[in-house]
Amino acid sequence: MMTIENKMQENYSQELEKIKQKALEEYIPIIMDDTLEVVDKILKEIKPERILEIGTAVGYSAICFANYLSENGKIDTIEREKERVEEAKINIEKVGMTSKINIYEGDAVEILPTLNNKYDVIFIDAAKGKYPFFLKEALRMIKPTGVILADNILYKGYVMSDYNKHKQRTAVRNLREYIKEVTENPNLETEILEVGDGLAVSKILM
Ligand code: SAH
Ligand code: MG
Repeated sequence: MMTIENKMQENYSQELEKIKQKALEEYIPIIMDDTLEVVDKILKEIKPERILEIGTAVGYSAICFANYLSENGKIDTIEREKERVEEAKINIEKVGMTSKINIYEGDAVEILPTLNNKYDVIFIDAAKGKYPFFLKEALRMIKPTGVILADNILYKGYVMSDYNKHKQRTAVRNLREYIKEVTENPNLETEILEVGDGLAVSKILM
């Protein structure tokens, strides 16, 4: 017999799968499965009260992360494309997570300096050329026990190769700068993982 909990779980899984498939069809760069697995593990351990995400897209990663929030936990997520914000809101509503996920619509470069919250986890997943700036803002708002994650840090392998002439070189230069800063910062313990498009995991050392 199917319990109400089973039924709800099944609905959630079906909705999430639809959101994922639609995003993939539309080439929206959602978090890759192996990256998500790593993030899930980290979140499971931390049970965050507050998560900040930079780059909502259609809400896929925020919805996945929301499952690991502590009771009354919340996610703040930032997206500058209006259409994506609208779609994210619909998706979040469909899975019943509206009370857990708050979207700021606008450019993170402008929104971040206006925020003054403290976060357990900060997930950077937006304009690659802005990663050093996002890091500076993340360091200002991360809790002393927190973790800063940066997706797409290896950018299709460009970051670790010496090929330096393609049109994405500003992005590559800034991703390299991010890696340099997180690895040299004595207050961080950083691992660069070759999952998905590359994930930087930086734990704050108290
Ligand atoms: N985190 C999402 C994927 C995000 S894709 C997931 O895994 O499901 C990156 C998103 O960041 C895009 O939707 C893009 O519009 C947004 N973005 C890029 N630069 C931004 C900026 N400076 N401010 C706000 N959003 C930005
Ligand atoms: Mg990404």
